[in-house]
Amino acid sequence: MKNYENFINGRFVGSESGERIEVRNPATGNVICTVPESSQQDVDAAIASAQAAQRSWEKEPAANRARLLKSLAEKIRQHVEPIARVITEEQGKTLGLARVEVEFTADYLEYMAEWGRRIEGEIIESDRPGETILLFRRPIGVIGGILPWNFPFFLIARKAGPALITGNTIVIKPSEETPHNAVKFCELLAELDFPPGLINVVHGRGPGAGRALASSAQIGMISFTGSVDTGSAVMAAGAKNITKMNLELGGKAPAIVMADADIDLSVRAIKASRVINSGQVCNCAERVYVQRSVAEEFIDKLSRAMRATHYGDPLQDETVEYGPLINEAGYRKVERLVGSALQAGATLRTGGKRGEGTGGFYYEPTVLAGCTQAMDVVRQEIFGPVIPVVEFDELDEAIACANDSEYGLTSSIYTRDLNVALRACQEIRFGETYINRENFEAMQGFHAGWRKSGIGGADGRHGLYEFLQTHIVYMQRY
Ligand code: NAD
Repeated sequence: MKNYENFINGRFVGSESGERIEVRNPATGNVICTVPESSQQDVDAAIASAQAAQRSWEKEPAANRARLLKSLAEKIRQHVEPIARVITEEQGKTLGLARVEVEFTADYLEYMAEWGRRIEGEIIESDRPGETILLFRRPIGVIGGILPWNFPFFLIARKAGPALITGNTIVIKPSEETPHNAVKFCELLAELDFPPGLINVVHGRGPGAGRALASSAQIGMISFTGSVDTGSAVMAAGAKNITKMNLELGGKAPAIVMADADIDLSVRAIKASRVINSGQVCNCAERVYVQRSVAEEFIDKLSRAMRATHYGDPLQDETVEYGPLINEAGYRKVERLVGSALQAGATLRTGGKRGEGTGGFYYEPTVLAGCTQAMDVVRQEIFGPVIPVVEFDELDEAIACANDSEYGLTSSIYTRDLNVALRACQEIRFGETYINRENFEAMQGFHAGWRKSGIGGADGRHGLYEFLQTHIVYMQRY
């Protein structure tokens, strides 16, 4: 078993604290490695290194910054398989999905590199004769990136890519559940000609290292991905410094299935959306509203598709469609939500209990029919392979139920009727809507949640501009 360290100023360095966190394989419970429980001093050292590096990095032409990001993407492409295995071992996703995650990470860094020559300011008409008004977009300084465990490798790039191309530097705190892939990322960085301090990684738990990062006066922006409760704690930690917040939080995506929909397509897409990463994806369909006249056909087909889902230890069997849940707390939450739905009158159509496995946190693919809007399983993020289904009569009712949520990340509708699709687009109050397809965002889109699902967003031009601040200059000729 290996003991890994933080990556600060271009080197692996031991922690001040001496305390270690054990990282486990959720499929077996076995300890994989340890990382430090970083202290305030460790976090401060990482921030100081990022600050020192930022001064010269922002002066570097963006085309040179882009070249460096592309070299990192290239390096990642040469190591897809070993990194994918590390992700699967600590996080539990299938190897196929882990490979996609690594490839997507390289694509994302290349995509962000391409923005280097496209960062633009504005020239604005003045009210005064002889005056020119110029708006520049400037880097913010040091970004603090706090990551969840569900797409841990990709999320490093989603923070570091836009941060670096815009002239910022970054300190990243990976999730304590999945730090090993971040160590691999740093090993690749160390092999490249990267100026030290551009990307620093400190390990640790949320209330320690995470809080130290979020509450630092030297951090210009926190880019956080995780749950609503933690997002709120991170905001509170940054409040005294008025730190800019970029928050990607939880979701409870509604999927509306109309009577005229292609039922087979909706079943395929919703099942895929529910079993990918064992249902632990912020943007995936978490509750289904199906029009009553096709409800039985839809529920029957969905239950059969879910029942046929093959799950298990993804390192032992490459054909599994999903692996274990991340940890016991995740498993208990799924169990509680299914239990309370059954008590409140929902009907179990398939699943509903612990899955077979070798001591890991597996949950059976589960379909709950006869659910109501009041049930916790329809209102709270499940983050497991469970689909609650609610029936409705009119589109108005489905849209009202979909919007009746504290979350506002993604949504979807299945219909052949263009008018219905357009109405849903106009009336559904979410940051993202998918029509007749599974939920999965594109890097050139803009992934941003409404309500408690977040502040700001990621990806595309709008996501890039989150990492810049404006500077307006008034130039008077005399
Ligand atoms: P989490 O909120 O438990 O933890 C996220 C990170 O915050 C971890 O690194 C953790 O150590 C850190 N943290 C915890 N307490 C902290 C504190 N007080 N101060 C600073 N940092 C702290 O989330 P998770 O369980 O890792 O991830 C699952 C959640 O993430 C789900 O709710 C999911 O919907 C959400 N998520 C959202 C998106 C998105 O794009 N909107 C993407 C992926 C995951």
